[in-house]
Amino acid sequence: TAPILSVNDVQVSFPVGGLATRSAILGVAGVSFDVRPGETFALVGESGSGKTTLARAINGLQEISNGEIVFDGSRIDGLGKGQMKPIRKRMSMMFQDPVGSLSPRMTVGDLITEPYRIHGAEGRNLTDEAARLLSLVGLTADFASRYPHQLSGGQARRVGVARAIALDPALIIADEPTAGLDVSVQGEVLNLLNELRERLGLAMVIITHNLHVVHHVADRTAVMYLGRFVEVGETEAMFAAPRHPYTAALLSANPEPDPDKAHDRITLPAEVPSLLSRPSGCEFHTRCPWAQPLCAQTPPPSGDVACHFPLVPGAKPPVSKATA
Ligand code: SF4
Repeated sequence: TAPILSVNDVQVSFPVGGLATRSAILGVAGVSFDVRPGETFALVGESGSGKTTLARAINGLQEISNGEIVFDGSRIDGLGKGQMKPIRKRMSMMFQDPVGSLSPRMTVGDLITEPYRIHGAEGRNLTDEAARLLSLVGLTADFASRYPHQLSGGQARRVGVARAIALDPALIIADEPTAGLDVSVQGEVLNLLNELRERLGLAMVIITHNLHVVHHVADRTAVMYLGRFVEVGETEAMFAAPRHPYTAALLSANPEPDPDKAHDRITLPAEVPSLLSRPSGCEFHTRCPWAQPLCAQTPPPSGDVACHFPLVPGAKPPVSKATA
């Protein structure tokens, strides 16, 4: 099947400095990936890794400075607000706090049927539509008359999902879909997303810093660092045997309930370099426990693992570095 979304060598730059010293920093520094119908692709990274900027660029909320974004066979980067409107019917964005960002005076029924009013609701009975959407996300029809403040965190997230699927999109971009929820409720929301993906044939791009979320839902995952992909691949394989040192460190920082699968803890120096002064060579070398002299001089080859010395399963950081 043809991809529903293709991101090709996309860069996003931000101007910095005053008139005399004006320059630009790269928030997204050239990334490429495809997402196929029915597939979930995860963008993972710490804050400042560029994952949210990239998601906003895909949704047309952020201008790109290079590359192209192709959605459903047509190029969509550079489209104006009016031209993006029909695209947004087929590509919906779930923001981190989907209900909290909307009017507290709107009922749940109004919130979830608002996309019909924005995009034209000819011939639709909005009461019936609200009941249909609520049932798809596992809520009863009486939720339509409630207000956002009367919802639990998990119910609010379900309402956000209902709104996102209202127009029958081909792609949903979900920014931290489980942020702020208890672990058990996180699982419920992730199961719901998985179920809807299968039932409605949706493609999804999930943006998160939470690796458990990724493990639950993503077929493929890209790990971002300073606006670049450092490792891209099938989620299961990446979790079983991370090949980039940064992926290994992120995985090791997440407690894994199954001791057979737990990774030894790899501690990184806390400082993420500033985008204003990117490190030379491999940009991760200032924090990498495996760094060699070559790493500070030469950028790693591009490919699925951006590293001169990809890890082999079970690799441990060199003792001298790890304890330095
Ligand atoms: Fe670490 Fe070198 Fe690989 Fe960069 S290229 S991740 S510094 S081993």
